[in-house]
Amino acid sequence: MAIRTRFAPSPTGFIHVGNLRSAIFTYLIAKKDNGTFVLRIEDTDQGRLVEGAVNAIYYTLDSCGLLWDEGPDKGGEYGPYIQSERMDAYKKYALELVEKKEAYKCFCTEDRLSSMRESGYAKYDKHCLHLSEEEVAKKEEGGLPFVIRQKVSEEGSTSFTCQVYGEISIDNKEIEDQIILKSDNFPTYNFANVIDDHLMNITHVVRGNEYLTSTPKYTLLYKALGWSEPTYVHLPHVVKEGGKKLSKRNGDAYYTDFINKGYLPDAIVNFLALLGWSPSDNNEKFSLEELEKAFSIDRINKSPAVFDIKKLNWVNAQYIKELSLDSLKEVCMPHLVSSGIAEGKDEAWIDSLLLVFKDRISYGQEVIELYDEFFEQEFVLDQEGIDFLNEEGVNETLIAFRDLILNLDDYKAGNIKPLIKEAGKIAGSKGKMLFMPLRIATTASMHGPDLPQVLALLGKETVVKRLNSLIK
Ligand code: GLU
Repeated sequence: MAIRTRFAPSPTGFIHVGNLRSAIFTYLIAKKDNGTFVLRIEDTDQGRLVEGAVNAIYYTLDSCGLLWDEGPDKGGEYGPYIQSERMDAYKKYALELVEKKEAYKCFCTEDRLSSMRESGYAKYDKHCLHLSEEEVAKKEEGGLPFVIRQKVSEEGSTSFTCQVYGEISIDNKEIEDQIILKSDNFPTYNFANVIDDHLMNITHVVRGNEYLTSTPKYTLLYKALGWSEPTYVHLPHVVKEGGKKLSKRNGDAYYTDFINKGYLPDAIVNFLALLGWSPSDNNEKFSLEELEKAFSIDRINKSPAVFDIKKLNWVNAQYIKELSLDSLKEVCMPHLVSSGIAEGKDEAWIDSLLLVFKDRISYGQEVIELYDEFFEQEFVLDQEGIDFLNEEGVNETLIAFRDLILNLDDYKAGNIKPLIKEAGKIAGSKGKMLFMPLRIATTASMHGPDLPQVLALLGKETVVKRLNSLIK
């Protein structure tokens, strides 16, 4: 049977990286076997809808390359793909369950339910299950609002199998007679997902493991409706080190948080694919296409997946190195502008800056930090630097270089480079004894990016001033 999977987000805001990880796995499970990836919008919780959230879902999936084969905007033979447009189906099957005595109408008021909870009931006390048909008819005629509840036996247990977590069984007396259809005819998530997954012919239901405990309810619904169950694939949580949550407050919860910091979509996908799944070899760099080939359900782990920002930075840096200068500029420019670094600088200066940092930068925003580290720090030598500058012949090297620089009209990296060698010739120094004193005397550091580029970025005036301050 051809595989059909679905990503079923609720349009409640930006896409959380944990949810995006689910989307990636869902996509890969379908694509690995040339299956179909469906996008379904789950908007039955009308109170939680956020304007623009559907567009955020489209944007996120689209920019990550997780292209859906069927969905609200694409159409498909199982549409509509927005739950609020599928209301007739939910009502039809809820009434069918009532007819089969697998569900019942419940007229309990909010007051009754809350006093029931206050007196210690953990779940609904099945009060309306015991109403006679006449009583139900009378209440309905009187126009009393009602919900429809799933009828769950107090006896026995229900089990299902998850491809990741194995067989899970739960005593039926633990399961509440949950509401499946609300009084406004909207279904609950727990009901709608079963109806839609069946009607949309979904073969593999892939979602977070927070749904493991609700799945027995779905198993019972499938049974009551006489339908066969899909294959379940539950995914481990995505957490930070120490089990902490990725949060809005820390700015590490949403896909857009990372895009805004200058991470690249391909790198994010690569990194997230390794959260809870591991390839059979040690490879860590995967394009989406490569993931489609390498992915397999049996290599999904049960234990929580740790979102390690250092690893994300490493992965992202690999992708940054492959960017053209123009693409790198696109990623870094917003940060150079917002930090004020770009102010008054021409294009050539920006280009040199990015060329200097290309191999060091992990994500766009880091350009600010790197810039500050190399160009804004106070010019203070440490003891090691001072000792180096006291070595024999160093003073002559600094003087020769300063004089050459002073006479250079077109001050740019390409023209500075040959002057370093020339200064060496004049002062009789070479190798480490030529480059190191010049680097220390101009940047106060023994390490750094390509020296002529750095000197060009510092500007002639600063370089000469620093050299003069150290020449004896
Ligand atoms: N709308 C649910 C959510 O966003 C979908 C869960 C599922 O995949 O069934 O969590």
